[in-house]
Amino acid sequence: MTNPFQPHTKPDAKPGRVRVRFAPSPTGFLHIGGLRTALYNELLARRHGGDFILRIEDTDQSRAVAGGIENICRSLAATGVIPNEGVWLDADDRIIQRGGVGPYIQSERRARYHAAAASLIEGGHAYECFCAPERLDALREKQHAARKPTMYDGHCREHDRHEARRRVEKGEKHVVRLKLPKAGSVTVWDAVRDDVTFDWAGIDDQIIMKSDGFPTYHLAATVDDHDMGITHVIRGEEWLPSSPKHLFIYKAFGWTPPVFAHLPLLLNPDHSKLSKRQGDVAVEDYLAKGYLPEALVNFVALLGWNPSADRDVYSHDELAAAFDLAKVNKAGAVFNIEKLDWLNAQHLRTMPEERYLELVRPFLPKTTRDEDFVRRCLLLVRDRVIRTSDVRLCTAYLFEKTLTYDDVSLTWKTQEPIQAVERLKAVDELLHGLDEEAVLDAHAVERAVKQLIAERGWGNGDTLWPLRVALSGQEKSPGPFELIACYGTIRARQRIRDAVKRLKA
Ligand code: GLU
Repeated sequence: MTNPFQPHTKPDAKPGRVRVRFAPSPTGFLHIGGLRTALYNELLARRHGGDFILRIEDTDQSRAVAGGIENICRSLAATGVIPNEGVWLDADDRIIQRGGVGPYIQSERRARYHAAAASLIEGGHAYECFCAPERLDALREKQHAARKPTMYDGHCREHDRHEARRRVEKGEKHVVRLKLPKAGSVTVWDAVRDDVTFDWAGIDDQIIMKSDGFPTYHLAATVDDHDMGITHVIRGEEWLPSSPKHLFIYKAFGWTPPVFAHLPLLLNPDHSKLSKRQGDVAVEDYLAKGYLPEALVNFVALLGWNPSADRDVYSHDELAAAFDLAKVNKAGAVFNIEKLDWLNAQHLRTMPEERYLELVRPFLPKTTRDEDFVRRCLLLVRDRVIRTSDVRLCTAYLFEKTLTYDDVSLTWKTQEPIQAVERLKAVDELLHGLDEEAVLDAHAVERAVKQLIAERGWGNGDTLWPLRVALSGQEKSPGPFELIACYGTIRARQRIRDAVKRLKA
């Protein structure tokens, strides 16, 4: 056989239309790392006006989970990382496929993989392997004991082809393996890592067809990437060692390989590989916890790339306009939940007010409460909210009938209660004299209270501390003027008079 392998080099001509794919296995839920892979693909497609395809890789039937496809589609839709070709959910939540080079679900393409495997065998690039599992187990044990790498020993590599065909026709159980070169090396050009060289001697004759008649990922993905006109294969670093095998298949068929781009590993803060436990990494769980789609997209985009050195908050559109595979980092990216919290808070603060209110209002009970007051409360705590669900806790004291002042002192430093009472009573009087419109304006309240303080010759601390605590009952809270403007005259005066009673008790 002639070695079909030619070196893989950086393509010098710009490819035509960019076509990329996200190709998850439907194993239950969309992993946050999967979201990053999907996003980087989508960003590249958007940057170049290309196509972003969702393909489902379900050839490992033992790992497929019922509802897995729907779940992936839903999580992608919820985060706004939306394919324009391939697998979809229609309005009734039914799986549909759109595009001219489908089917896009691998279990529906089995005939194509069989034909591809037969043609590789025909061309001398693959062979049937009849080795029984017992033989392979014994071989593995022997190699293990001799501290050698465990790999297939090529027992069936040189079988007579006609003899092998006869055994297959008789129904003998077998797999199909790639007949990879045994010496020399292969260099893969990767858009993130540049040239990466592998020795063929370390690469096993990969199984491409299993004995159950299903192809393995390596054959199915490569055939599909070719058939679907994929120009860039963007995927996790764990697939980098597989790329020589894929390149071999491209070359064996005489196909032009795509650009490969292997994204950096995702790491826990202690630099171990990011956990796979669902509760920690499922996109749907993050959304349910009150993380915003735009914050998640912003966060995963930064796991391995940042468009500029001095900024972290980006919209999806800004990311798409700036995306550049060549700027993706090689080093593992640390998954830092504090950063996600911070980004979430930033997005909550900068989005249009109405959208913020729409997002957080459902976290407060539906009552007959004054909706204007509810709205003012939600806006008051906006700077303190990290996740949408936080508004409930952040606003709780604002809706209490009476405050307890158990955890914080109503008096300032060494101030006597009587002095605090004097100041609170004066502010109460002041509010009584202002019209409601002025009370609802924090700046107007501030001007009036500061004038009062100046007239009486009081200090800011000894007036504003008791006032703020009277209004919030909290060690930390928004300032007294904002609190008054949120409560309005009646509620603010009630709070102040409650605190006076408490101080006198
Ligand atoms: N089905 C593979 C996975 O779930 C896809 C790898 C690839 O993108 O080639 O990781």
